[in-house]
Amino acid sequence: MESYYIWTVGCQMNKADSERMESALGQMGLGPTDAPHDADVIVLNSCVVRESAEDRVIGMLTSLKPVKQKDPNKVVALMGCMVGPQTKTLQKRYPYVDAFMQPQQFGQLLEIVGERIGVDPEGCVGPLTANAGVATYIPIIHGCDKFCAFCIIPYRRGREESRPVDEIVHEARMLARRGVKEITLLGQNVDSYGHDLPGSVDLGNLLSAVNEVEELERVRFLTSHPYDMSDHIIDTIAQLDKVCEHVNLPFQAGDDQVLTNMRRGYSNDDYRAIVEKIRKRIPNVSLATDLIVGFSGETEPQFQRTLEMVRDIRFDKVHSAAYSTRPGTIAARMMDDDVPHEEKKRRLNAIDTLQESVSAEINLALQGTTQEILVEGQKRGRWFGRTRNDKLVYFDDEINRSGEMVKVRIEQAGSWSLQGALTV
Ligand code: SF4
Repeated sequence: MESYYIWTVGCQMNKADSERMESALGQMGLGPTDAPHDADVIVLNSCVVRESAEDRVIGMLTSLKPVKQKDPNKVVALMGCMVGPQTKTLQKRYPYVDAFMQPQQFGQLLEIVGERIGVDPEGCVGPLTANAGVATYIPIIHGCDKFCAFCIIPYRRGREESRPVDEIVHEARMLARRGVKEITLLGQNVDSYGHDLPGSVDLGNLLSAVNEVEELERVRFLTSHPYDMSDHIIDTIAQLDKVCEHVNLPFQAGDDQVLTNMRRGYSNDDYRAIVEKIRKRIPNVSLATDLIVGFSGETEPQFQRTLEMVRDIRFDKVHSAAYSTRPGTIAARMMDDDVPHEEKKRRLNAIDTLQESVSAEINLALQGTTQEILVEGQKRGRWFGRTRNDKLVYFDDEINRSGEMVKVRIEQAGSWSLQGALTV
């Protein structure tokens, strides 16, 4: 049997695309391998949201040149956000790559592989069927219409396109029948789901529909946007039994002028008001956020507003990043990347140090409590799973608990994870 190796960097959308690609290759009769150099088909699923991610993709691509030269029969493909509508430059730079595919559009690779092994790829792309695991993703909306000044996503993933509710529910049902217990509904901005569909459908309606899928235990959604987080969405999350109490709501910057420069569409006060509403209506909710330090023109006092936000709101998790210019974005065309590299590092470090202590304090409060977790699998010999509000918990047991809902008493709490002992 021919083998494939898929390397993925970047966001959950990329992970979901890779899962779908794996499923399609599996249906065509290929098997996975852990060693890229042994694989007959090598796919790099790329990310260019940050310069560091792009550098890693370039490093991987370069390392594959001698591999392909040694064995020209191997199929090498590049997919994801590094591939724009025009592939000429990439083709020139990496002539040994057989296929360049934009996000989600991996038909070209399946055709090449199909021709090679004499299998018709038609019908192999669709809902996830193989190796879906206990918890998996379903993309519900592709692309983004927001055009935040720093972000490359709308240029690479295109305009927003929501998938119909029926199609998503059908996919959730199929996955649940194959043993999936938890589904994360995925999009760059899930709160904007449905505005392009007929009738008035939003994320709340979709959550209600997916909540009805019997075999499912939990439903999550990722990522939200403060501008589109409506009362209806918040109230629906609060009411539905399977929808988990966790919201990832990026605020990006604490200062209003920086938020305006970023074209985010809300102010510091707006953001705080939404958080207050969420916390009031969804008891026990946990909050994660994304933020950028050192955006074009960000002064020290402006940065302090971001730090202040992290201190005041006390997020459960913060995904922080130092700003790097992405060619083609509004910021790249109109603003200077004028905060020195060392200063960005210092600001990033200040955020991370503060957040580490906040996370540790929040998690410490869970010590001694009993938490219900859905066991997702094993890592380095230990079982792991998550609480409803997305805390990662490890425990030991002799029995395979994968897919089970278990109760764990928390014995030790760190900033990133909790350790406990099984009680049921
Ligand atoms: S909302 Fe802004 S940051 Fe998020 S994907 Fe869209 S353009 Fe990028």
